[in-house]
Amino acid sequence: MSHILVVEDEEKLARFIELELVHEGYEVSKSGDGREALELATNNSYDLILLDIMLPGLNGLEVLRRLSNTHPTPVILLTARDAVMDKVSGLDAGAVDYITKPFAIEELLARVRVALKLHPAHSSDPAASSSNDAASHDPKNGIFVWKDLTLDEKRHRVTYGGKEITLTNREFEMLKVFLSNQDIVLSRDTLLEKVCGYDYVGETNIVDVYVRFLRSKIDEAFDIKMIETVRGVGYVVKSE
Ligand code: CA
Repeated sequence: MSHILVVEDEEKLARFIELELVHEGYEVSKSGDGREALELATNNSYDLILLDIMLPGLNGLEVLRRLSNTHPTPVILLTARDAVMDKVSGLDAGAVDYITKPFAIEELLARVRVALKLHPAHSSDPAASSSNDAASHDPKNGIFVWKDLTLDEKRHRVTYGGKEITLTNREFEMLKVFLSNQDIVLSRDTLLEKVCGYDYVGETNIVDVYVRFLRSKIDEAFDIKMIETVRGVGYVVKSE
């Protein structure tokens, strides 16, 4: 059973997240103070930490910085809506993902599942590094896989069933975002931010344009259905 540390000083929110995680079968510990959280994380081996940024004691980014030097535990940051700099510094400091408050609990649970799958904290645990895991991602080596499709980040190469697909940089980036967030519905805003950068000023329908390019080069070219539209929300690539 995965053990998750929830660091959040808003009592109600922390309790809500705890209930939902326990309901999903996770073991949960909680802390509402940065300094206490750092101590807990240093002395216990959690599989994942959900870390709020604005905390009493020590702020979340500082906790993250001190942890990243010594602990391999994956961290998902909980950030305020407009705290762009927090997101950037958080990812720079080693967080594996972030989620913006307020969030839908389903999105949090999906991100938790993905983080646990992609970042098994205890690499000595043979179950965690099982080679026949359905998602054969190896983000450390920059390899992302969906069915017969493989994206090799280092070589900047995408193949389907061994056949090479030529993509522009932006198409490549968007495909990488889809492959590393499988089963998570991505909104146009999220895609725009991840593909074009935080400071992109322009229309979100640029996202639809790139999705169309990807579909013509992948879905249509190989007669498959990779990128699905979720009406009114965005797009998703499902692993099954
Ligand atoms: Ca807070």
